[in-house]
Amino acid sequence: MGNNDNTGNTPAAASCDIMPEGTLTVEQAQQRILQDISAITHTERAGLHSALGRILAGDITAHFDVPPHRNSAMDGYAFASTETISDQPLNIVGTSFAGKPYLESVKAGECVRIMTGAVVPDGCDTVEMQENCQRDGHQLTLNTTPKTGSHIRHPGDDIPAGTCVLTAGRRLNAADLGLLASLGMSEVDVIRRPRVAFCSTGDELKSIGQPLGIGDIYDSNRYTLHGMLQQLDVDIIDMGVIHDTPAAVELAFASASQQADVLITSGGVSVGDADYVTAMLKKRGEVSFWKIAMKPGKPLAHGRLGNCLFFGLPGNPVSVMATFLLFARPAILRLRGEQLSALPEFTATTTQTLKKTAGRKEYQRGICTQDSAGNWQVSSTGIQESHILRSMSQANCFIILERETEHVAAGDSVKIIPFAGLL
Ligand code: AMP
Ligand code: MG
Repeated sequence: MGNNDNTGNTPAAASCDIMPEGTLTVEQAQQRILQDISAITHTERAGLHSALGRILAGDITAHFDVPPHRNSAMDGYAFASTETISDQPLNIVGTSFAGKPYLESVKAGECVRIMTGAVVPDGCDTVEMQENCQRDGHQLTLNTTPKTGSHIRHPGDDIPAGTCVLTAGRRLNAADLGLLASLGMSEVDVIRRPRVAFCSTGDELKSIGQPLGIGDIYDSNRYTLHGMLQQLDVDIIDMGVIHDTPAAVELAFASASQQADVLITSGGVSVGDADYVTAMLKKRGEVSFWKIAMKPGKPLAHGRLGNCLFFGLPGNPVSVMATFLLFARPAILRLRGEQLSALPEFTATTTQTLKKTAGRKEYQRGICTQDSAGNWQVSSTGIQESHILRSMSQANCFIILERETEHVAAGDSVKIIPFAGLL
């Protein structure tokens, strides 16, 4: 994967050329979704063991130096460098272990055996690694002339006292947890997790364990959505399958809007005779119904049910995943106060011709690999229709083909979004 380039899917990069009436570009839709989201401000304490992936509520400042003491970077011997000018061997007067320091002051003509991480005793300014020393009982001869100050770590080398090490809005990773521990912190203030409710709509959908009648299929969207939500560390409310009746849809919306910050539905946002999601939103909340110039996933309903953000995703399994990642995911990140980062894009060379219709941005499913020279190549998973869920399972990235692109030849450069950490 070549140079990282975050321009393609950032909300700010809205294109302004002519679009069909009522149609938005991906970037315009992203911008509109994000513009009226206020981050959750409610905070809670989290112990370090449960803080991975949580969003920091405030800045973290170091109140002491890390490391707190001058210590050795090597297993070797510590002494004052002026003592090594004479050819006389040094007297080994003791040992400084990590956690068990040598507490006396080291005098002229003396040295101490020292281990990595052990406090450097007073009177010493240099450590020489044991490989460059010759020990004979309590006598030490140096095989090289040491550089004054070498192999000594100083207080605050890692973090000087007073440094702001992590800022509010940071998503805590494993390194951050270690950093907090090194500052002696056992817990931190984090933002409350957003509560995200989701459901599938459709009379043809059966839950796993139920027999399939004629025309039925198993509900897969609830599982892809559940998995993608788990990657975001939110509180998940699974509302099951909602039947295609106005009453069932209305009941589900009323229940979700009372307990969730976000409701995500799949299916029922097209113009079919059993598509009630949009109509019910218009009745119970504020809703926009957008056609988005993208493939997969053209229709999208977006709005609010009271304080609950609403995303009505299309029903087709690939469209659900693409629209979740491009529209619902950034909204959830913004809601929980995360310093927003766009999905990272990279450049790869396509191994084959890719078919594309001009006028819509396509997110084709791709498999990217590194060739023997270390360059990233991407190939298509094949059929790109939005009901082919297997293409998402086989792929490890989206291949992004811009709206105005008409044809991509083998050997061309394309942008890709890797799935790592998303699915
Ligand atoms: P709709 O948007 O409701 O018209 O659905 C579009 C297509 O997606 C139809 O073929 C549905 O059967 C299918 N679909 C809708 N919801 C699901 C789901 N939860 N799991 C699998 N397929 C679905
Ligand atoms: Mg349906």
